[in-house]
Amino acid sequence: MVSRVIPVDTFDLVIFGATGDLARRKILPGLFRRYCSGQMPAEAQIIGAARSDMDDGAFRDLVRSAIEEFAGSAAGDADQVEAFLGQVHYEPVDAKGESGWEALKSHMRDHAVRAFYFSVGPSLFGDLAERLRTFGLATPDSRIVVEKPFGHDLESARALNRELAQYFDETQIYRIDHYLGKETVQNLMAVRFGNVLFEPLWNAQFVDHIQITVAETVGVGGRGGYYDSSGAMRDMVQNHLMQLLCLIAMEPPARFEPDSVRDEKLKVIRALDPVEPHHIVRGQYTADEKQPGYRAHVENERSRTESFVALKAHVSNWRWAGTPFYLRTGKMLRGRTSEIVVAFKDAPHSIFGAEAGRHRNELVIRLQPNEGMTLDVTIKEPGPGGMRLVDVPLDMTFADALGPDADMPDAYERLIMDVIRGNQTLFMRGDEVEAAWAWTDPMIDGWERRGDVPKPYDPGSSGPEDALMLMHRDGRRWRDIKA
Ligand code: NAP
Repeated sequence: MVSRVIPVDTFDLVIFGATGDLARRKILPGLFRRYCSGQMPAEAQIIGAARSDMDDGAFRDLVRSAIEEFAGSAAGDADQVEAFLGQVHYEPVDAKGESGWEALKSHMRDHAVRAFYFSVGPSLFGDLAERLRTFGLATPDSRIVVEKPFGHDLESARALNRELAQYFDETQIYRIDHYLGKETVQNLMAVRFGNVLFEPLWNAQFVDHIQITVAETVGVGGRGGYYDSSGAMRDMVQNHLMQLLCLIAMEPPARFEPDSVRDEKLKVIRALDPVEPHHIVRGQYTADEKQPGYRAHVENERSRTESFVALKAHVSNWRWAGTPFYLRTGKMLRGRTSEIVVAFKDAPHSIFGAEAGRHRNELVIRLQPNEGMTLDVTIKEPGPGGMRLVDVPLDMTFADALGPDADMPDAYERLIMDVIRGNQTLFMRGDEVEAAWAWTDPMIDGWERRGDVPKPYDPGSSGPEDALMLMHRDGRRWRDIKA
């Protein structure tokens, strides 16, 4: 299937922090792929900005190497690369100073959509917003894209929202959570609300429980300092896992438009019960023969920060009363996987008797690897002699089902194009972010007050034993994390 690519209006996109890791790995290669797909207009401009002193030529060299390293097969077309680089410029700008702003302004065109991507540390968000106004770069229609983390807790998120609100209207602020840009995450809404099949069963009457797992095989890498002041709850649960939970649990919005969708997500967050301390398991990976443990990675031998967290949550509303949501995420685990399991209840009565065994339908939505869905369906085991049952997967990997020509943009590519189009559906609203912090803050405060020490777990495992017990105690088990 060949996808339709709808070109966007012409734009001037300024990337603050254009020499940084995120710009190099995701934003610039992503824009190049959109260029190759024909979505980026020929007159669009990308303007890199950071303190480093360089000219257009030096910046284009940086972009060229980022494309070679991170843009995949598209990088092989030298003509396309050079044509794309022709639309790329650079201005040295200090977010905290006064230099460079007038020169940056001279690039801006009246007829083009203006977008400013804040790919810098969060402490600079306010400075950038202020200077965009002071130097007259921002128009009433300009958009700003704000990276995570959005605050460290409720108080700091509120302060940041207030600060940005001095210079920009909420309709101009795009708080990015790249999980929402993943094809499968959007498919959650298509599957739920585009089919008549699932929605009647999508409630406490038919769903036994829901699992959301985001497992990584890597450790904290070079982000040790940041990570140690943050931990898995702030870095992953408060944003990515909460967003997934919202999309699974929310009521059907009246329309697929920004505020309808975001209103429904907000209701889910507000319906979350406070989590009991004994329903939370925190872990920290230990050393093995190949690498040092978490504490050595973050160079803090007394660190009590969690590199793993599992918890049981309840959404207290009519749809979900009594259906637990189990969430877990961690680093240095057995496999790299992000998936959601909707585990349906047993059939109310088995006509096949006890010897047929216990079988239940499970819908597994894979965000990575191999984006797709599997529905476990119970059928008869082939062969003579009795009615034995077996569960087989109805498996759909999207890349196979849609064919090799399907345009599957990376999350960042899609989200940047949404910014240009002015579509905020897949971006978090200020009140959503605050509500999410209001739910996670008491958990974090609780363990900080009690001085909880995370449980150790082996690298390459599924996390601490207690996380397995969290479900075992309820007569349930996590789906295995595959190596
Ligand atoms: P980074 O590698 O440290 O890059 C920071 C960028 O900011 C550099 O280009 C730096 O260039 C520029 N910068 C620093 N101070 C500046 C100033 N005063 N004025 C103008 N530019 C300044 O950081 P990153 O990893 O790219 O992360 C950027 C943002 O994305 C952060 O908020 C991070 O939390 C978020 N994020 C990153 C990732 C990721 O995978 N990297 C993932 C999710 C979210 P100069 O030194 O030349 O000024």
